[in-house]
Amino acid sequence: MNIKYCPMCGSAVIHEIPEDDDRLRHVCHNCGNIQYQNPKMVVGCIPEWEGRILFCLRDIEPQKGKWTLPAGFMENNETAAAGAARETWEESRARIRIVAPYRVYDLPFVNQVYFMFRAQMTEPFFQTTPESAEVRLMREEDVPWNEIAFPVIRETLKSYFEDRKTGHFEFLNLELPPERI
Ligand SMILES: [Zn+2]
Repeated sequence: MNIKYCPMCGSAVIHEIPEDDDRLRHVCHNCGNIQYQNPKMVVGCIPEWEGRILFCLRDIEPQKGKWTLPAGFMENNETAAAGAARETWEESRARIRIVAPYRVYDLPFVNQVYFMFRAQMTEPFFQTTPESAEVRLMREEDVPWNEIAFPVIRETLKSYFEDRKTGHFEFLNLELPPERI
């Protein structure tokens, strides 16, 4: 993101490498503030109820009209697990119990990290929301693989269904390269 003005004092910022640093930053020469830009964390989960997985049909951009798992940007003052539960409720009104961390995907080319948890729904309740035009529990054989919103979600799901066959779920940190987007 290209920042034009200092968020601290409103002066125009300069794009330069500060002393003792090794990369370009937005530097304010008026108040001395350096506006660092860092990756965003996306938190989400794979909500399961009696073998089926809860999917949300996105009613917002990007990827409106495609299916996804509940996930979204982590907020300040919350844990990753609480963020995943909050996003699930916001997108589907479902309540979940986090089972275990499952995947951390680095997406360095878009400056994001996805943290996905395994989760169990605590009751078979869900409904549409302002963010989801439809919410549905799906069996593996019913998953519309060509209509999944994001490659990182598709990767997560494919691994999950594979692991579920053996009952052995490993917590992995993987990188998703740009050509997989
Ligand atoms: Zn400033």
